[in-house]
Amino acid sequence: MARPDLHDRIAALRKLRVAQDRVRVRRIVSRRDGVRVETEGRWLVAFSSNDYLGLSQQFQVTTALQDAAGRDGVGSGASHLVSGHHAAHVALERELAEWLERPAALLFANGFLANLAVQQALLGEEGDVCVQDRLNHASLLDASRLAGCRLRRYPHADAEGAIRQLRNVPEGAAMLATDGVFGMEGDVAPLRGLALVARVQKAMLYVDDAHGIGVRGPQGRGSVAEARLGVEDAPLQLVALGKALGGYGAAVVGDAALIQHLAETARPYLHSTALPPALAAASSEALRQARRDEWRREKLTGLVDRFRTRAAAAGLDLGLSETPIQPLLCGPDAQALAWSAALERAGYWVPAIRPPTVPEGTARLRVTLSALHTPEQVDGLVDALAATRVQAPQAETVA
Ligand SMILES: *Cc1c(COP(=O)(O)O)cnc(C)c1O
Repeated sequence: MARPDLHDRIAALRKLRVAQDRVRVRRIVSRRDGVRVETEGRWLVAFSSNDYLGLSQQFQVTTALQDAAGRDGVGSGASHLVSGHHAAHVALERELAEWLERPAALLFANGFLANLAVQQALLGEEGDVCVQDRLNHASLLDASRLAGCRLRRYPHADAEGAIRQLRNVPEGAAMLATDGVFGMEGDVAPLRGLALVARVQKAMLYVDDAHGIGVRGPQGRGSVAEARLGVEDAPLQLVALGKALGGYGAAVVGDAALIQHLAETARPYLHSTALPPALAAASSEALRQARRDEWRREKLTGLVDRFRTRAAAAGLDLGLSETPIQPLLCGPDAQALAWSAALERAGYWVPAIRPPTVPEGTARLRVTLSALHTPEQVDGLVDALAATRVQAPQAETVA
């Protein structure tokens, strides 16, 4: 049989993407000033960032980065186990553990790698299984492939579904993995129900709280703290540093023996350059502010309420989310793209999210709010959404 040519293959795939309106383009940001973003020569009000608390350009945070980079340089120079492990990493790990009331924390270069590391280090034996929410982040799903474990998915946010999947695979070590706050839906996982399922089925609950940290729970400690789960209920959780904390990187926080095992055996940890220490220093400062500045969360909550109330009054079709992630479902890809383009003409940046990032037929606008938005900007967005709304195809209501 003839070996397929990879150039031919990707050309065919590209043609398919063009035909399906699935071409991905990277917009170039030339300047950023809080929620205002300059792209292709025009300033837009962005409702598109995960910088929910507005910390990425906060003066003390950027100063911490600059000071530490001046002192220690840009790169860490090596992986943690060679010579890249810096006092700034140790300090941030300690601060994260203390904030989240957990015994230990381990920094990673980013959340994708951290998720790969957790499953690879824990689920490597014959018969091991990872049971996951259907809408989990891509890195959690890919992690099961890397680990070589069985992957079983349950319907979104369905603790009963999770228990059925765990019962189907009675042997082998089991992990029950879920996003804390779902990045494309904005809803919060039923963590108390899942913790109960995990306990009954002797599975380990792993919560990827990339979008919950800083935003949910007391002091912004996230959705695990909000659900009042201890380390025995949720032995490991993922903390993203690149979202509400405004920086870059991630940490896995939890049980000390598990964390030690990751640090000594997880390949994505061992064989990857350590996070730049200056970024760790910036995250330490961001963490202090996220923890202390209750006003950022209060303002954000107020803006979310305002958006939802006004959008509902304007007849816009909202999901159930109470978080800063507010998707507006469109269905067909073309409709989401058209709506996003119309908003851009009106001065707003709201990305259209299409399959395969979200399930087929559920393309959407993903509005994200930040503590830096003004009430007037939110009102302006709702007016623009209502004015530019692309009508849903009749087929949906007929069927
Ligand atoms: C963003 C995100 C990640 C990946 O984190 P990075 O630091 O951006 O690599 C993992 N899980 C979830 C749920 C995320 O939203």
